[in-house]
Amino acid sequence: MDLRKVSLAQLPGVGPKRLESLESLGIKNVYDLLFYFPFRYEDMEAKSLDDAVDQEKILLKGVVASEPVVARFGYKKTRVNARILVENESIMVTFFNQPWLKDKFETGQDVAVYGKWNENRRSLTGMKVIDVNGKDSIDSVYSVNKNIHQKTLVNLIKLAFEKYHDQIETIVPDYLRLKYKLLNDEEIVSGIHFPKNEQQSDEARRSAKFREFFLFQCGLQSIKANDDRNNIGIEEKYDSKYIDEFIGQLPFTLTAAQDRVVKEILADMKSEHHMNRLLQGDVGSGKTIVSVIAMLASVTAGYQAAIMAPTEILAQQHFDKIGKLLAPLKIRIALLTGSLTKKEHDYIAKDIREGKTNIVVGTHALIQDSVDYKNLGFIVIDEQHRFGVNQRKALREKGVNPDVLAMTATPIPRTLAITTYGDMDVSRIDQLPAGRKKIETYWIRSQKIEQMYQFVTKELADGAQVYVVTPLISESESMDLKNAELIYDKFTELFGQQYKVGLLHGQMPNEQKETVMNDFSNKKIDVLVSTTVIEVGVDVPNATVMVIYDANRFGLSQLHQLRGRVGRGDKQSYCILIADPKNESAVERMKILTSTNDGFILAEEDLKMRGAGDMLGNRQSGLPEFKVGNPINDINILEVAQEEASKLFNDENLLNSPETKALKSFINDEYEQLNNFD
Ligand code: ADP
Ligand code: MG
Repeated sequence: MDLRKVSLAQLPGVGPKRLESLESLGIKNVYDLLFYFPFRYEDMEAKSLDDAVDQEKILLKGVVASEPVVARFGYKKTRVNARILVENESIMVTFFNQPWLKDKFETGQDVAVYGKWNENRRSLTGMKVIDVNGKDSIDSVYSVNKNIHQKTLVNLIKLAFEKYHDQIETIVPDYLRLKYKLLNDEEIVSGIHFPKNEQQSDEARRSAKFREFFLFQCGLQSIKANDDRNNIGIEEKYDSKYIDEFIGQLPFTLTAAQDRVVKEILADMKSEHHMNRLLQGDVGSGKTIVSVIAMLASVTAGYQAAIMAPTEILAQQHFDKIGKLLAPLKIRIALLTGSLTKKEHDYIAKDIREGKTNIVVGTHALIQDSVDYKNLGFIVIDEQHRFGVNQRKALREKGVNPDVLAMTATPIPRTLAITTYGDMDVSRIDQLPAGRKKIETYWIRSQKIEQMYQFVTKELADGAQVYVVTPLISESESMDLKNAELIYDKFTELFGQQYKVGLLHGQMPNEQKETVMNDFSNKKIDVLVSTTVIEVGVDVPNATVMVIYDANRFGLSQLHQLRGRVGRGDKQSYCILIADPKNESAVERMKILTSTNDGFILAEEDLKMRGAGDMLGNRQSGLPEFKVGNPINDINILEVAQEEASKLFNDENLLNSPETKALKSFINDEYEQLNNFD
């Protein structure tokens, strides 16, 4: 049975409200629920004291060294203290308000305690006592939001598994499962959600990673197959004189690198082959203008062009900028985002449909069903790793095989580019515009935060603007917001008399976000305190200081992206990292960042560090997001998956054999309007 077609309402206790909260996690059907994997386990493996990191949650195993003591304090509060011997060191374990736990500590017995480690005191604040014999010792931890509890989700997954486990269809064909000793999908689901031990969850994860990469690669392959079949793209006969004139009247001269990639792109457009090109260039290297030139070329050839950005702020900004650049020309551009009223939307959509609009700038709104293009010939996908294969494909299908230019700020190594993007051609802008001053980067610990305030005071007095960014700290959005608000209050207290301090965060309505961003652009706001919503692409040349709180919580690439928000004009810019890193790799990151501004070097370092097991999200790495697999750590699996997918798609017999039936129908549905299989 196709569990993607089974409604969650089939599960006991799931009504409209619960459906909604599940949907907010992206869980729309029983399949989604079963494949909604935990992002970690509450620790499966006891740690050695040497590896224990201050304030992190760990599992310690030891022998109870003394009778536990129960103390009472305050109003009805209790504390259980016990000493356990771990690797010959006596560790104090404290439990608050769980007096009954004292029975779990019998002198001389083995015990396993899960809790928060305090490095200074060499003690553990216990959270729970775990059965030493391993049974039940693994708890899956899911990412949830305010609409739904961990416990509820776990129960639902259990219910779904009980009811449907024998109907989970295995998608990876048998010959591959045999070859690579992979579990079937039922085993994967149970092994990941309810592992009995670490080995079982490891095995399930290995299979799940292959499955995930393989499906992704099959998606790419099927798109490619489609492409090859109608590789005859459009021959865009653009007006080169017009383009030259446009370039000639820009307020700056293109860098040699920009000039080179523009030529590469134009050559592609002119050819009758379908263009599928990735444009890599460090933050600030000037990718936008390159894409504008290409879009303009397409317009002169009689087509419509579109540029899709991952956030409204970015789309708005592109719109403003492109509007300015094209102002002298008779080109009509429109902005299409999700926050338009229906009336506005319909009005704009009509112009697009009738071909009155030449260039459309927007977010995901560009690919809605309600938007049709007259003759979309060229599309640009900005920050392309932020979009899924499906979304990129959906935009392409709005035209008849339009040429595609995908842009990314992260210089990923070629092999990774090939495995994750199929076979795009790659253009690189490996040079920054002349006259850019190197951004000076400093790392301070939070005890020296006064220095930062002084520095900001000085810069503000010079008329500069300042970004203050705080990371996503907790798994809960409201906590992050609180953090940003606290910092905002502090800055208002310090600078609010003389300057305007603004706040920007993800929970604000879009309209308000835009207002704040515009105010910052127009210097109506001097200090902008923000969560990471500003992370991509925003361009305010007068901003010269980027302060990043808890910088150790970000990955290298992301810090580099954030830093790239300043240094966009000709003034000297600064980046101040505030961080009290708790481990070596975070210290390392701070040091690398203060030592280089080169995105290529940073990306390489980033990959190396991640390769060493630093499990930071992929979101900013320039790679697509995967749920179980990590394209860097699991590059071997990724490569094998790519090889197998490509072999399969080049083998008619295999493709037509019953063995690949489940796979085909899965891919077909997943990449909907795709019908290259039959
Ligand atoms: P990114 O590659 O990060 O998207 P942008 O396209 O936003 O970079 O460009 C960064 C800034 O540099 C913009 O303000 C843009 O106008 C400016 N810029 C782009 N190309 C040049 C150039 N050749 N000379 C001077 N400034 C440039
Ligand atoms: Mg950009």
